[in-house]
Amino acid sequence: GATLGVMGGGQLGRMFVHAAQRLGYFTAVLDPDADSPAGRVSHHHVRSAYLDEAGLAELARLSAAVTTEFENVPAQALGRLAALRPVAPGAEAVAIAQDRAREKAHFTRCGVPCAPHAMIEDEAQLAAVPDALLPGVLKTARLGYDGKGQVRVATRAELAAAWEGLQRVPCVLEQLLPLAAECSVVVARGADGRMAHLPVQRNLHRAGILAVTEVHPGNLPADRGRQAIEATQAIADGLGYVGVLCVEFFVLQDGSLVVNEMAPRPHNSGHWSLDAADASQFELQVRALAGLPLVQPRQHSPAIMLNLLGDLWFRGGAETAREPDWAGVLALPGAHLHLYGKTEARPGRKMGHLTLTGAGIESVRAAAWQACDLLGIERFQGPAEAG
Ligand code: ATP
Ligand code: MG
Ligand code: MG
Repeated sequence: GATLGVMGGGQLGRMFVHAAQRLGYFTAVLDPDADSPAGRVSHHHVRSAYLDEAGLAELARLSAAVTTEFENVPAQALGRLAALRPVAPGAEAVAIAQDRAREKAHFTRCGVPCAPHAMIEDEAQLAAVPDALLPGVLKTARLGYDGKGQVRVATRAELAAAWEGLQRVPCVLEQLLPLAAECSVVVARGADGRMAHLPVQRNLHRAGILAVTEVHPGNLPADRGRQAIEATQAIADGLGYVGVLCVEFFVLQDGSLVVNEMAPRPHNSGHWSLDAADASQFELQVRALAGLPLVQPRQHSPAIMLNLLGDLWFRGGAETAREPDWAGVLALPGAHLHLYGKTEARPGRKMGHLTLTGAGIESVRAAAWQACDLLGIERFQGPAEAG
């Protein structure tokens, strides 16, 4: 078999490696860490910095084609690899997704509305911010994830202090929107332009981090779901994208749909597809990279995914990490436990996820609530709880 390469050794790379291996490929992971979730399960592990010439050359030598699992992989590294091997997604699409200003410009070009916003790169732009953008969310233009690098601000004084606190790096100020819900769509696009997508995913965030994803026919009004899928396809087409792309949306209280951001890779909100669809987002990533057919996945069970953050290891303010009650969780019907093999639990760190499946959404939600109670996750209210 051929070898498929991946930049980054985190959990997304690990699940890519599993999917690639199942289809008969060997894998090569490039990651600076000696012991990473994906590096540990891969045939080859290139231990190297992302921009190191020798490391990139070695990954290219080993691999027939290369993808990325790491949102902030230096786009130049993908550009250099592309001189040697097919790379998907391409450096240009990744560079756009890594910059909130370029990303928003792309959404607008594709006719998909985003939050009213302004760039803040200097004092003059700070002073010129329209009052209508307050209250707002100040976000670093680059390198933010899991709500890091963003601050909610209500007044001009708070805005100035927040920008100072973010070391005056280039930022985007977005209007704080009245959310009724959040959702996302995963699409895979092949080099021939053909696309396959997963059904629309309803997401609940807590403290800026994805907490719960629900996927079942009633999770959102049907027309909103259709609109989100069409917007995602337009965004992928507009990029000439090859690979798996996830686009996040807000549903506002007036029912309108607004795009939030995109990730140039499989996404946490698509993990349910490993257990409740006949092709997962990682299989789609392998297929897109290897030039294999992209067939529309079919969801065969309603699904709820709970993220397992490192906080669960420190219940009741414990000082030393203690393994949660996995046996209790695995006694629940339709429980699919995924642990990423990270050696150290830390608060806010994504350690694994749990997907619950069943014949109907009521029984799935009941099992999910039991899992919440067992693990010490706050229960969610289903489609009524706003992001
Ligand atoms: P990710 O880990 O998904 O990449 P991120 O750090 O890039 O997250 P965003 O997706 O921009 O952050 O924002 C995180 C969350 O904060 C959103 O999912 C939403 O709940 C809330 N949020 C962000 N921007 C706004 C906004 N303009 N109005 C209201 N809520 C917002
Ligand atoms: Mg993001
Ligand atoms: Mg986000």
